[in-house]
Amino acid sequence: MKKKILVIEDEPQIALGLSDALAFEGFEVFTADTGKLGLSLAKQVRPNAIVLDLMLPDDNGFRVCEELRTFDRLVPILMLTARASEADKIRGLEMGADDYVTKPFSVGELIARMRAIFRRADRSPDLPDTFRVGDAQVNLAAQSIARGSSSEQLSFYEVGILRLLSERKGEPVSRDEILQKVWGLEAGPTNRTVDNFIVKLRRKLERSPEKPEHILTVYGFGYKLVAD
Ligand code: CA
Repeated sequence: MKKKILVIEDEPQIALGLSDALAFEGFEVFTADTGKLGLSLAKQVRPNAIVLDLMLPDDNGFRVCEELRTFDRLVPILMLTARASEADKIRGLEMGADDYVTKPFSVGELIARMRAIFRRADRSPDLPDTFRVGDAQVNLAAQSIARGSSSEQLSFYEVGILRLLSERKGEPVSRDEILQKVWGLEAGPTNRTVDNFIVKLRRKLERSPEKPEHILTVYGFGYKLVAD
């Protein structure tokens, strides 16, 4: 079964370049040049991943993203944008995007990220889908964390990080390795990406996120998970 990718992008050259390259990689590609068409295609074809441009002729990507999340909480959404301010990134992540790709981007990088997204699904389950970390119950399949009476949704990459750290419980895992295995990215100046996601994860997982007891920083290297 081919994985389905929906590209919502109004610039014909980018849309065409992306869909050619993704099709060449063996993905089934659907394209939409407006937010409205993108939303209706997403409902129809139920893609396995979505590439979403921030600036669309009829709507902005933030709104489209929010709407997508009302009927599909789990599909990985990569936002594509010429703007890359920190505020935009945070807003995108809050609206339910999983990550950002800044224009101009290399098609190779985007494909590497798509491969990393689907690698997870194809892996044999070497880890139970649910496990405890402190007083939190993690459910990787449902992409959720429950603590006491509250439950929080985990984004695609948050799940990837948690899975990797828990497979290597108690061992330090470098930022570079996290970038490679979770994002499919070569190590580089984007290292802050990992740190931003760790901050979000700690908010969901830790009793007091400023004094983490479970996701610990290994200074100058990366992170490790400590759990019973
Ligand atoms: Ca655009």
